[in-house]
Amino acid sequence: MKQEMPVKVNDYIDIEFVDLTHQGQGVAKLDGYPIFVPNGLPGEKARIKVVKAKKNYAHGELIELKERSPYRVDISKEEEHKYGGCQIHHMTYEGQLKFKQNHVEQVLARIGGLENVTVHPIIGMDNPWHYRNKAQEPVGEKDGKLISGFFKPRSHEIIPTDESVIHMEEVNEAIQVVKEVCNEFNISAYDENHHTGMLRNIMVRYGKQTGELMVVLITRTEKLPNKEKIVNQLVARLPKVKSIIQNINSERTNVILGKKTKLLWGEDVIYDKIGNVMFRISPLSFYQVNPVQTKVLYDKALEYADLSGEETVIDAYCGIGTISLFLAQKAKKVYGVEVVPAAIEDAKLNAQINDITNAEFEVGEAETVIPIWAEKGIHADVLVVDPPRKGCDESLLKTIIKMKPKKVVYVSCNPSTLARDLRILEDGGYKTIEVQPVDMFPQTAHVESCALLIKK
Ligand code: SAH
Repeated sequence: MKQEMPVKVNDYIDIEFVDLTHQGQGVAKLDGYPIFVPNGLPGEKARIKVVKAKKNYAHGELIELKERSPYRVDISKEEEHKYGGCQIHHMTYEGQLKFKQNHVEQVLARIGGLENVTVHPIIGMDNPWHYRNKAQEPVGEKDGKLISGFFKPRSHEIIPTDESVIHMEEVNEAIQVVKEVCNEFNISAYDENHHTGMLRNIMVRYGKQTGELMVVLITRTEKLPNKEKIVNQLVARLPKVKSIIQNINSERTNVILGKKTKLLWGEDVIYDKIGNVMFRISPLSFYQVNPVQTKVLYDKALEYADLSGEETVIDAYCGIGTISLFLAQKAKKVYGVEVVPAAIEDAKLNAQINDITNAEFEVGEAETVIPIWAEKGIHADVLVVDPPRKGCDESLLKTIIKMKPKKVVYVSCNPSTLARDLRILEDGGYKTIEVQPVDMFPQTAHVESCALLIKK
């Protein structure tokens, strides 16, 4: 028998929001049937229009707010283009922090079965604006001029912007200058429908502590008319620029960066400092985007590791060695592993430039390399993981359980996979002592956490 859906497309209905998804969409329920609506906040009543209706859920569009949340802030239509990527900018910062705290607690309980674990109050920012040291904007054309911005949700239509409220001012400025200069030299925007045109994306990175700027032009072909003149103009108009790079992506793909990178001017890396450690950052390596909160997060990881100087530490997913080098200052020996070869090259050089001699790095998957280390007799007293959103590979968790480090410090950018992995570690003999959420990404729905586990 075909089950009746409680709503159909184009229905107008009155609902009350009871929750937020992890992407920051409002959730209403009709007898348990969830309706997801961007821009709705818990406690609000609204009239919505159903835009998609499936057997188990529906999507709606907010038509009229009938009761407002005390956490709501209004942004005018004219300002909206400055809020690209900001899924929860319609909440006060206090509301955002409350939402993230709740989210971490709920997910740990629901997915991890960790009802009684201590979750400390989230550490937010004093100034939750203009914190990002990196921007990556798709390029298009409007009225014969280059534009850049962000994609309208669930589409490839670019909303043009000349400023973002979360990028550092230097980053905003650099993107503007790149657009101006490329316009002056009639560079065309990449057209993804016909796979023609030149400039696909503009990427900018800025080292807040060093004042060094990197510009990356992502182009479809290696050929770029007036390349030298463009570079000269960028150098003239961006006094902080230290590195200008071309990245070539000739594929028909949504992936932003291509495999080939060419140095156009200056250095092939920029530097930045977190605490007392200097890092070289190459265009393709992962580097945290919020330097203020990164320091807070790494300090927490270090505090949880609680090193005396006698320990062997493994840093899985080490990137360019950021956490590893922090740990190395307090440990006997640190081993870092990371899958991106360029990042490991950076990690080794980072150890050198900071005169850190007790850190070793190896390229490979953590789940493959760490068991090989174990066979060679390398056993960690403390093991740190900082995986991407999908969490740790299950075989790595099994390796950890077999290796039995006294402590595991789990740094996570996704509470759901954190909860799933903590459950596996708990079942393998670990106890989750405490979890500290840190707000690395204000105005967005993302939340970072650091968890401490001890071998039972
Ligand atoms: N700890 C670093 C990097 C964290 S981001 C920092 O704070 O800067 C996660 C890193 O894991 C990325 O650099 C990514 O390239 C790497 N990675 C992804 N899958 C991996 C795997 N299976 N094994 C090892 N590293 C992996």
